[in-house]
Amino acid sequence: MSLLSVAEARERILSQLQAVPSETLPLAECAGRVLAEDIRAATDLPLFDNSSMDGFAVRSEDLLDGNARALRVVADIPAGSHPTVTIASGQAARIMTGAPLPPGADAVIPVEDTDFQMRAAGTPAPESVLPRRAVQRGENVRPRGADVKAGETVLNAGRRLRPQELGLLATLGLPHVSVHRRPRVALLSSGDELLAVDAPLEPGKIHDSNSYVLAALIEAAGAQLFRLGVAPDRREAVEALLEEAARSKADLIISSAGVSVGAFDFVKEVVDSNGSLDFWRVNMRPGKPLAFGEYRGVPFIGLPGNPISAFVGFHVFVQPAIDRLSGLPPMAHRGLRVRLGEPVESDGRESYLRAELREQDGALVAFLSGHQGSANLPALVRANALLIIPAGVKSAPAGREVEAWML
Ligand code: AMP
Ligand code: MG
Repeated sequence: MSLLSVAEARERILSQLQAVPSETLPLAECAGRVLAEDIRAATDLPLFDNSSMDGFAVRSEDLLDGNARALRVVADIPAGSHPTVTIASGQAARIMTGAPLPPGADAVIPVEDTDFQMRAAGTPAPESVLPRRAVQRGENVRPRGADVKAGETVLNAGRRLRPQELGLLATLGLPHVSVHRRPRVALLSSGDELLAVDAPLEPGKIHDSNSYVLAALIEAAGAQLFRLGVAPDRREAVEALLEEAARSKADLIISSAGVSVGAFDFVKEVVDSNGSLDFWRVNMRPGKPLAFGEYRGVPFIGLPGNPISAFVGFHVFVQPAIDRLSGLPPMAHRGLRVRLGEPVESDGRESYLRAELREQDGALVAFLSGHQGSANLPALVRANALLIIPAGVKSAPAGREVEAWML
């Protein structure tokens, strides 16, 4: 069995996956979804020249030094109205933020820069106003089309819709958009030693923690979680859960434990007999053993059982897999560069060290958050980042720059 590089293992997984189908949803249901179509603007943004201040729409030349004089207020333009009066020389219109600039005007003087001090809601416009300074042509005007031109592509397929993207789609007047449905990810744990979190402990048993960690990670990745539960180390028990995953039309099955070389590791055997399974040793630490295959056509990733190995394996392989299924470009937005605050050791495998990034003199400096054992959850809890020490590096001195993934 050869040792695969992390990148190679990930490529092999990703090459078997494609984005799940799309559906058209009302905008209000699209938060967190991934766009399945390019979005072109049908209109300019802003839609029309409008004021960015409460004040008076003016002709800037009227306010130049030497021209300064009181202007006759010939219109009152609240937001939402459609001004028809043309502002002539010596005239102004009271205007509110967001209201269309009236014809003839080319700038807005803010109300606080005029002699009109009555600013309470409901105050009628004055008959005349005295500007206290000059304004540039275009000052406090948001010109039509300054942000987006009609016909421009503003969002590309494959982008996660954050609140700000929803704002842009709403501004463009798009009530429905085509998004990928959320991938369905089935999750199982395996092991005779595992007890539910609320079960009283018994000798030799431990509480199942991976289910909680992986379930939360799957949901945070934007997938729809299908909890299969815990399979005891028996062939039929494992098979029953995997059959349920296949029946539920999962897009991906994730398991933890039961795929190593232990005498009771039935997961790999069952997957192999009802599908196919490659068992890989990946050149990484923690998390060397990794299983990948399909169960009745559903892609399957078998993570190691040790809690830190399962967690790291999720970030390295499952997150990109869910991203690909979701329609996102996998691995698009990941590392940042940080400096080691202390020397670190590795065994030459690509290592994912649990670390705490602290700010020192304006830079992020990394310190290990505890011993790097693959079951040390408290150290993972203290960590705010995974440091990536590349394959082939056995020690790195303090001050060395390394890649970090924020947790
Ligand atoms: P295995 O891959 O079954 O050999 O498990 C490796 C290690 O991970 C053992 O110490 C298991 O007890 C532990 N382990 C397996 N599954 C879980 C789980 N769901 N929660 C916590 N620890 C686990
Ligand atoms: Mg086991």
